[in-house]
Amino acid sequence: MKTPLVELDGDEMTRVMWKMVKEKLILPFVDLRVEYYDLHLKHRDDTDDRVTVDAARAIMKHGVGVKCATITPNADRVGEYNLKKMWKSPNGTIRALLDGTVFRKPILVKNIRPFVSSWKKPIIIGRHAYGDVYSGTEVRVKGPGKAELVLTPAGGGQEERFPIHDFEGPGIVQGLHNTDGSIESFAEACFALAHEEKMDLWFSTKDTISKVYDGRFREIFDGVYDRWRERFRSRGIDYFFTLIDDAVARVVRSEGGILWALKNYDGDVMSDMIAAACGSLAMMTSVLVSPRGYFEYEAAHGTVQKHYYRHLKGEETSTNSVALIFAWTGGLRKRGELDGSEALAAFAGKLEEATLETVESGVLTGDLLAVAEPGPENRKVNTEGFIDAIAHRLGEKTGR
Ligand code: NAP
Ligand code: MG
Repeated sequence: MKTPLVELDGDEMTRVMWKMVKEKLILPFVDLRVEYYDLHLKHRDDTDDRVTVDAARAIMKHGVGVKCATITPNADRVGEYNLKKMWKSPNGTIRALLDGTVFRKPILVKNIRPFVSSWKKPIIIGRHAYGDVYSGTEVRVKGPGKAELVLTPAGGGQEERFPIHDFEGPGIVQGLHNTDGSIESFAEACFALAHEEKMDLWFSTKDTISKVYDGRFREIFDGVYDRWRERFRSRGIDYFFTLIDDAVARVVRSEGGILWALKNYDGDVMSDMIAAACGSLAMMTSVLVSPRGYFEYEAAHGTVQKHYYRHLKGEETSTNSVALIFAWTGGLRKRGELDGSEALAAFAGKLEEATLETVESGVLTGDLLAVAEPGPENRKVNTEGFIDAIAHRLGEKTGR
């Protein structure tokens, strides 16, 4: 490795697996160089969340990061970890700095069929990773009063006010934003990936209701499509806009092979639906592609809190590390490509093969056993046993 990979450690069960993956599947095979940031919730609290910003800046410096899942604190977590405050979502903080689009793609194996029987090809989710509710401002309205939007132009122009609601009693109000620049780079990234993967691009919003906000997303996508139209035609692929509810119904009846571009919240929700329908939340890759050339690889799932509590009680767990492994392979492959290190990129390919072959050979964590095609060779292994089985195969492939 020439350039260090920026490593962002995380919380709970994924932190436990992260260490195992690194020690058993990476370090014995790669002369690893990392710049390490510990995003454990307690450390974020100790540093007043400075560590999250530092980690994002390190990705901006070196270009490629790998991230473990992290707790986004809510009221329960503030008590559990005795936090100074309810820190923001680290993913939200990082995405706000890097901008960009999160692409999520199911990891397909031969012995697990999607629940949706018409799906023959993968569905990739392109989730806008900037703005909307993830960096919104929210206010509890205590009693009667008027809520308004106020726009104050820079340089002292005329202030504009827009009514939101006349409250007669308590309620809630929320302010969201996005920028033309971020939406445009989101659209550009989606058209580019659809073109590269030779897949139709679908985009869906609710622009019949949200005529200005969602309407602007649609307009910008239409404008970017004008630049891609010829290239799409020559590839035999299409761009298709439809309302989000219509898209949901169509996706379920499709045969897959679609890149589905979604606004931030829609992509958050739909990627879990697609992952679960493909077998397990742990069978999905996730990469943040920034318009400025930065990449951050992670698992699409959370910290698997319920399994962690069992682990803490000394009970056996059978948690799936596939998505974490693919976060590492994604990061190592990209680092290899950027630094011209073929050996590093090839290693990433071998580790992915070893992982898929392990699952296909019937060595399964509990989530996979529940959905795999029945077979005499199927057996459930625990969290560590699964990683050990992959390490064994990887050893055979690499001769170590
Ligand atoms: P989760 O960690 O994704 O887990 C939800 C459930 O999905 C688990 O209880 C488990 O189901 C199943 N599951 C997820 N990953 C699995 C794996 N690798 N192997 C086996 N089963 C898996 O979501 P959560 O429990 O709602 O959230 C826990 C914490 O994660 C929260 O504090 C949240 O803030 C955080 N989070 C972080 C990220 C991120 O950093 N990217 C994303 C989402 C959530 P069973 O219990 O049925 O086995
Ligand atoms: Mg989510």
